Amino acid sequence: MYRESRPGASPLDRLGSHFDADLVCPDCGFDDADGHWMSDTSGDRVRYRHVCPSCGSIRKRTLDLGRR
Ligand SMILES: [Zn+2]
Repeated sequence: MYRESRPGASPLDRLGSHFDADLVCPDCGFDDADGHWMSDTSGDRVRYRHVCPSCGSIRKRTLDLGRR
């Protein structure tokens, strides 16, 4: 029994999951395996933020949804 539609799996969720594969801090090399990128939507842009729990380095990414 398979269902194609998955409520809750929005495109933004999938993008967030994509970033969740990149959780190694470039500054100290800490692998935040249990961490997540936090997303914040504003207008047609999504801002992602990840704070390294080891050294406190903050990484930010902005995704332009480029609505057309
Ligand atoms: Zn770090």
